[in-house]
Amino acid sequence: MTTAPAPRVVVVGGGVAGLAAAHRLRTTLGDAAEIVVLESARVLGGKLAAVELGGLRVDVGAEAFLARRPEASDRLVELGLSDDLVHPSGASSGIRAGGATHAMPPRTVMGVPADPPAVGTLLSDAGRAALDTDARLGPVAWDGDDSVGGLVRARLGDEVADRLVDPLLGGVYSGRADGLGVRATVPALAAALDRDPSSLVAAARAALPGGTTPPGPVFGTLRTSLADLPAALAVAARAEVRLARTVTALEHHGTGWRVVAAGPAGTGTTDADAVVLAVPAPALRRLLVDVAPDASAAAAGIELASSAVVALALPPDTDLGTRSGVLIGSGERRPDGTPWTIKAVTVSSVKWPHLVGEEAVVLRASIGRYGENDVLQRDDDELVAAARSDLAALLGLTAEPVETVVARWGGGLPQYGVGHGARAARLEALPPGLAVAGAALHGVGVPACLATGDAAAARIAAHLAASRTRGTLAP
Ligand SMILES: Cc1cc2nc3c(=O)[nH]c(=O)nc-3n(C[C@H](O)[C@H](O)[C@H](O)COP(=O)(O)OP(=O)(O)OC[C@H]3O[C@@H](n4cnc5c(N)ncnc54)[C@H](O)[C@@H]3O)c2cc1C
Repeated sequence: MTTAPAPRVVVVGGGVAGLAAAHRLRTTLGDAAEIVVLESARVLGGKLAAVELGGLRVDVGAEAFLARRPEASDRLVELGLSDDLVHPSGASSGIRAGGATHAMPPRTVMGVPADPPAVGTLLSDAGRAALDTDARLGPVAWDGDDSVGGLVRARLGDEVADRLVDPLLGGVYSGRADGLGVRATVPALAAALDRDPSSLVAAARAALPGGTTPPGPVFGTLRTSLADLPAALAVAARAEVRLARTVTALEHHGTGWRVVAAGPAGTGTTDADAVVLAVPAPALRRLLVDVAPDASAAAAGIELASSAVVALALPPDTDLGTRSGVLIGSGERRPDGTPWTIKAVTVSSVKWPHLVGEEAVVLRASIGRYGENDVLQRDDDELVAAARSDLAALLGLTAEPVETVVARWGGGLPQYGVGHGARAARLEALPPGLAVAGAALHGVGVPACLATGDAAAARIAAHLAASRTRGTLAP
């Protein structure tokens, strides 16, 4: 009796979503399945990446995950990494608005105030006066989605949009409030407006985390760096990882798929029973164009924002102050009247107790919002100099760095515009044996990306089971 070949699944993209899919395929399909990960870079991890800086291991891409969603914390338990889970110190952050640095106001949903007077200190007299607009207007004209900026400007004035909402959304999406859709980027607010559109402030109040929110810290990371999560997923997936392989085409082949990849030794093909595409939107557009044209067109509609992280190690005795970070409102100016180059700084050694070293303390400045690519057209030394100048003006930090690193994230974050949910649904409507995962779909955060990896694995496992039943795949 001959043994039937085990199913082979190719995962394209070795970021956290692709590796989550690979891991979940392994736990679902068992030991016999052949799982191949094709990754264009020379390292796994995608936007989860860490470097040695001033004797510390510092994340220069994603640095933390939302711990109030279960996916990341649960995965760490599953991977045996829960002992390495750490939480922020609890130091509070600040926001630069109207030429001064303020404490981050409480009770906002992505900057939309549930308690308008509490944000009054960030606003001018005119801005404070505009806070009443929401109460004076009738119900919100809500048909299921709107631009965040458009909605906030109409109901609470431009200053709330520019000084609060824009910097908060900029921190997560590198995006602008005016271009991002409420439903995909502030889903709790959209759900509250669905229930009761009588006022934006009331919806924000209803959307605040309430009694059902699990207790405990809001964010978590790994003591050894968040970049260890994709590495651990890859090990647990027991996948055949092929680095420096850029997948250039996808074709139907028999009852399965043929994946064409360019690598150091030329172009090769890998045949598979099923394929998970866990790559950013431009790669999805290209790989799906022949096999799923509508999904490809949907991917083409997703725009991307580029940014850079400038990580600085400063001498260990540097006084970093007490804030965990500062976000900078749009249109804000430095004390000398020139624009800020950085849009935010995370004072990592204040935010994370494990990131205080004997050789250095560390912080990360981020540069670049959607539509502002010019600011990134400088060499690394110029970006470091601009970040240092801003940090001197913002936090009084003038110490000579011990070490610096610039990480560039070209097209790093997808922009979820109005109606993104429908676009994501088109992206997921794929022929049998194909699935997508990753930040292009239902959230850019690490937990959301893990969830898409799991969902893609479940779709593929169901397809393989159905194929086995039909007899188009060996048992
Ligand atoms: C600077 C920055 C900071 C962030 N901070 C946070 C944070 O603190 N917390 C948080 O939750 N999220 C954060 N995010 C968002 C989060 O990191 C990403 O949304 C998430 O990691 C995306 O994972 P992914 O697997 O979908 O995509 P990616 O990480 O982009 O992985 C896709 C992989 O596919 C590979 N690839 C692309 N094309 C091909 C091809 N044709 N063939 C083969 N391989 C290909 C790429 O090289 C890449 O490795 C941040 C993002 C950035 C850019």
